[in-house]
Amino acid sequence: QPISELSAQQAASEAAQLRPTLNQWRQDYYDNDAPNVEDDIYDRQYARLVALETAFPAIVTPDSPTQLVGGTVKAGFTKVQHPIPMLSLGDVFSQAELQEFNDRLLGNIEAETVDYNCELKIDGLALSLRYENGQLVQGSTRGNGTVGEDITKNIETIKSIPHQLTKPLTVEVRGECYMPKAAFAALNERREAAGESVFANPRNAAAGSLRQLDPKVTEERQLSTFMYNVADYEPLTARTQSEMLEEFADLGFNINPDFQVAHSMQDVYDYIDKYAAKRSDLAYGIDGIVIKANSLPMQRDLGATVKVPRWAIAFKFPPDEQPTVLREVEWTV
Ligand code: NAD
Repeated sequence: QPISELSAQQAASEAAQLRPTLNQWRQDYYDNDAPNVEDDIYDRQYARLVALETAFPAIVTPDSPTQLVGGTVKAGFTKVQHPIPMLSLGDVFSQAELQEFNDRLLGNIEAETVDYNCELKIDGLALSLRYENGQLVQGSTRGNGTVGEDITKNIETIKSIPHQLTKPLTVEVRGECYMPKAAFAALNERREAAGESVFANPRNAAAGSLRQLDPKVTEERQLSTFMYNVADYEPLTARTQSEMLEEFADLGFNINPDFQVAHSMQDVYDYIDKYAAKRSDLAYGIDGIVIKANSLPMQRDLGATVKVPRWAIAFKFPPDEQPTVLREVEWTV
């Protein structure tokens, strides 16, 4: 039923039905690394909940998935506080919605144009790396955004993560841990041959491999990383997102080279078209692209809601034509 035809009570009751279902799916996905439905099913139900809550803000509840980031800390892991939260990203599915995001951002900064850095949205899980005087001291997962899991021993086994930076910086760098497509296919083949359950997709395989109490298992899984974010940019020289990625590379991090500064929305659309076409040729999974206000001080000024930054948005691609899901999924919708 169109939302414009609903009463507040009808909207509240529909939202109350959606939340437990979505929260159950979130638990399967984030906590157990084993989703039970395809992402686009989750996304559609989530979008409906967002639309209901946007039309009727009074019906929002604190346990609504729209107010929550990620999942909970797995038993056996030490908790890590994120004084600067690790957030999710708002997502859009059309040019019109991208344009709305751009209009809103321009309204906030009272400007006519803005430069965006366009990046690939890597299908993995977020991690944060803390360095003191250039030395790796801690790695953690996003968890629920403010409390994550201490995975220092696990990340020490990932070859793309430097133990020592090229400069003695004290800095917290964030990015994505992912499993390349080839490693994912080989892992699932091995697991199938051994009669073990297979992973639904590379994202869940990466999460399941990183959130291991035995770091030796992580080591065997051929995970890799692309770093793209910082908790606080002050220790860096860069003052734009694109310069920051280059500085990360100089410091010894792996970065995704396919980023591009867009000076107009047309540039953004061209970038989307280019990578929608290239998607299946990449060695790792992407589920969309992310555009970010390029200026780091602007990012800081724009800030975030409880869940997402106001300076970035993800444009999600339609589901991959070639299904990555190798096991039966329950189509519970
Ligand atoms: P998200 O994964 O859609 O977007 C936020 C994340 O994108 C960040 O935390 C970061 O890890 C990642 N990212 C990748 N490349 C990035 C880049 N270049 N710059 C910045 N961030 C980048 O959001 P989320 O809150 O983690 O999860 C929501 C998504 O998870 C949904 O869209 C849904 O598809 C999926 N999900 C699926 C199920 C299910 O049951 N299938 C359940 C819950 C969530």
